[in-house]
Amino acid sequence: MRKDIHPEYFQAKVVCSCGNEFETGSTKENIRVDVCSKCHPFYTGKQKAAAARGRIDRFNRRYGIKEQE
Ligand SMILES: [Zn+2]
Repeated sequence: MRKDIHPEYFQAKVVCSCGNEFETGSTKENIRVDVCSKCHPFYTGKQKAAAARGRIDRFNRRYGIKEQE
Protein backbone atom coordinates (compact mmCIF):
# COMPACT_ATOMS: atom_id res chain seq x y z
CA MET A 1 0.00 0.00 0.00
CA ARG A 2 1.31 3.41 -0.93
CA LYS A 3 1.18 6.15 1.62
CA ASP A 4 0.51 9.81 0.83
CA ILE A 5 -1.52 8.89 -2.19
CA HIS A 6 -3.94 11.66 -1.27
CA PRO A 7 -2.82 15.30 -1.33
CA GLU A 8 -2.73 17.07 2.00
CA TYR A 9 -6.11 18.39 2.94
CA PHE A 10 -6.63 21.68 4.72
CA GLN A 11 -9.50 23.51 6.28
CA ALA A 12 -8.93 26.34 3.85
CA LYS A 13 -9.73 29.95 4.59
CA VAL A 14 -11.42 31.52 1.62
CA VAL A 15 -11.28 35.30 1.34
CA CYS A 16 -13.51 37.00 -1.15
CA SER A 17 -12.84 40.38 -2.76
CA CYS A 18 -16.05 41.63 -1.09
CA GLY A 19 -14.52 40.96 2.33
CA ASN A 20 -16.53 37.87 3.10
CA GLU A 21 -14.56 35.01 4.62
CA PHE A 22 -15.53 31.41 5.02
CA GLU A 23 -13.90 28.04 5.38
CA THR A 24 -13.96 25.06 3.14
CA GLY A 25 -12.05 21.85 2.67
CA SER A 26 -9.32 22.19 0.10
CA THR A 27 -5.83 21.11 -0.84
CA LYS A 28 -4.83 24.78 -0.56
CA GLU A 29 -4.44 26.58 2.74
CA ASN A 30 -5.65 29.96 1.59
CA ILE A 31 -7.89 30.79 -1.31
CA ARG A 32 -8.81 34.16 -2.71
CA VAL A 33 -11.92 34.50 -4.81
CA ASP A 34 -13.48 37.40 -6.69
CA VAL A 35 -17.06 36.44 -5.98
CA CYS A 36 -18.80 34.32 -3.39
CA SER A 37 -22.40 33.41 -2.74
CA LYS A 38 -22.86 36.70 -0.88
CA CYS A 39 -21.74 39.02 -3.65
CA HIS A 40 -22.18 36.96 -6.78
CA PRO A 41 -24.21 38.94 -9.35
CA PHE A 42 -26.65 36.07 -9.61
CA TYR A 43 -27.64 36.50 -5.97
CA THR A 44 -27.20 40.23 -5.44
CA GLY A 45 -28.71 41.09 -8.82
CA LYS A 46 -31.76 39.03 -8.01
CA GLN A 47 -32.26 40.71 -4.65
CA LYS A 48 -31.85 44.22 -6.08
CA ALA A 49 -34.23 43.46 -8.92
CA ALA A 50 -36.83 42.16 -6.48
CA ALA A 51 -36.47 45.25 -4.26
CA ALA A 52 -36.75 47.61 -7.24
CA ARG A 53 -39.78 45.76 -8.48
CA GLY A 54 -41.46 46.14 -5.08
CA ARG A 55 -40.86 49.89 -5.07
CA ILE A 56 -42.29 50.27 -8.56
CA ASP A 57 -45.37 48.25 -7.66
CA ARG A 58 -46.02 50.40 -4.60
CA PHE A 59 -45.56 53.57 -6.64
CA ASN A 60 -47.92 52.37 -9.34
CA ARG A 61 -50.58 51.38 -6.82
CA ARG A 62 -50.32 54.69 -5.02
CA TYR A 63 -50.84 56.71 -8.17
CA GLY A 64 -53.21 54.28 -9.83
CA ILE A 65 -50.86 53.57 -12.67
CA LYS A 66 -51.37 50.34 -14.45
CA GLU A 67 -48.28 48.50 -15.46
CA GLN A 68 -47.67 48.16 -19.16
CA GLU A 69 -46.63 44.72 -20.09
ZN1 LIG B 1 -17.98 37.91 -1.96
